[in-house]
Amino acid sequence: MAWDFETDPEYQAKLDWADAFVRAEVEPLDLVFADQQFVPLDEARRKIVDPLKEEVRRQGLWATHLGPELGGQGHGQLKLALLNEILGRSQWAPIVFGCQAPDTGNAEIIAHYGTPAQKERYLAPLLAGEIFSSYSMTEPQAGADPARFTTRATRDGDDWVIDGWKFFSSNARTASFLIVMAVTDPEVSAYEGMSMFLVPTDTPGVEIVRDVGLFGDPPGEGGHALIRYAGVRVPADALLGAEGGAFAVAQTRLGGGRIHHAMRTIGLAQKAFDMMCERALSRETAGSRLADKQFVQGYIADSYAQLVQFRLFVLHTAWKIDKYDDYRRVRKDIATAKVVMPTVLHDIAWRAMQVHGALGVTNELPLFRMIHGAAVMGLADGPTEVHKVTVAKQVLRDHRPTDDIWPSEWLPQKRAAARAKFADHLELEVGNL
Ligand SMILES: Cc1cc2nc3c(=O)[nH]c(=O)nc-3n(C[C@H](O)[C@H](O)[C@H](O)COP(=O)(O)OP(=O)(O)OC[C@H]3O[C@@H](n4cnc5c(N)ncnc54)[C@H](O)[C@@H]3O)c2cc1C
Repeated sequence: MAWDFETDPEYQAKLDWADAFVRAEVEPLDLVFADQQFVPLDEARRKIVDPLKEEVRRQGLWATHLGPELGGQGHGQLKLALLNEILGRSQWAPIVFGCQAPDTGNAEIIAHYGTPAQKERYLAPLLAGEIFSSYSMTEPQAGADPARFTTRATRDGDDWVIDGWKFFSSNARTASFLIVMAVTDPEVSAYEGMSMFLVPTDTPGVEIVRDVGLFGDPPGEGGHALIRYAGVRVPADALLGAEGGAFAVAQTRLGGGRIHHAMRTIGLAQKAFDMMCERALSRETAGSRLADKQFVQGYIADSYAQLVQFRLFVLHTAWKIDKYDDYRRVRKDIATAKVVMPTVLHDIAWRAMQVHGALGVTNELPLFRMIHGAAVMGLADGPTEVHKVTVAKQVLRDHRPTDDIWPSEWLPQKRAAARAKFADHLELEVGNL
């Protein structure tokens, strides 16, 4: 009987430590240094942040997304899920624990596909939390469809020369290097004709044309770059993985990235849920507490049900990743988590916002930000619709058509078969009547 929903006491103690640490030491950073988590540390911030990172290292909780063979602490995805749901409460917590997106996914692909020299140059400082990275895949005209990518890398002697445009390359403005997906062979399909390159951000020809902001960012400011690559020359050893192998590299990256977002979303949704419950118990109107009104009870019950289902599903998916050690075998579940994630966060944060009345929609509570975050989750790492298609295709692989004109569960046929199965007994009964 191998089913077990318990966390081992030793790791639970670490989780309890992390929970208290994030609330007391890390969440204040969100208030004092809001939206600066991807800005390289200046002296003042370093004095505060470095000792926190050191404390996390001492607890053995630094960069736990990678296994020891890949340079991380390696507690596995299930334990990472339990940790990430604590970190999801805070903007800064993933940085302080060395497991922030998009750097986790980027570290993962360098660990998997990088040469020893690439690992030393890019992975080591990334894991040490000293530099940031950016993943430069999406193109303005192509969006979620890699078959429409046109950014081209051509051979020139020992070098590659990259030309084209990329859109929404998050954190490019503060990243030390970019991971760029480019067409290297236009004659074959996108699945075989694209390659991945490691490009230092200060390489001549890399031009950040605009930093696109999200809702709430001041006009003209933001973290998602429109980049022009104009004759960007990199040496042959900038190729990450095999020539033509970008698709396999991208899949490795996105599998981990998506499920890690889902893990953190549990924590964020839990925060909204806790806020809703506190408010429901605290606020009185029209003769009773909000908690005593059936509408509000419905909000709480619906939110609890969504949160618990989502959490168990994400934990089970993480458990499967550990078990199979292969994202491709868990693709259906990762895509399902990606599909469900925006709705769970949206619905719970929306109800929490409603229960807080006018205060809920202000910039004095984090609830509207969460709802905006839910909208972002329905697009970043691929739109929900595309993942639904993946889920459906994967699900249908496990099903077969019937060659009969009637469905296999057609009752008249099943009833006839059941009667035939028990024919002897049925005749006896009828005969005895
Ligand atoms: C906050 C944020 C951060 C991001 N960070 C990065 C990053 O670091 N690096 C990077 O490379 N990219 C990044 N992206 C880009 C992201 O991957 C793309 O936005 C996404 O793939 C969709 O592309 P698009 O926005 O051009 O939408 P489009 O591809 O134009 O799609 C628009 C809409 O069309 C519909 N649609 C699209 N395809 C299908 C389909 N096959 N079937 C049915 N309906 C469909 C959906 O409703 C979809 O929302 C980021 C995006 C956001 C919002």
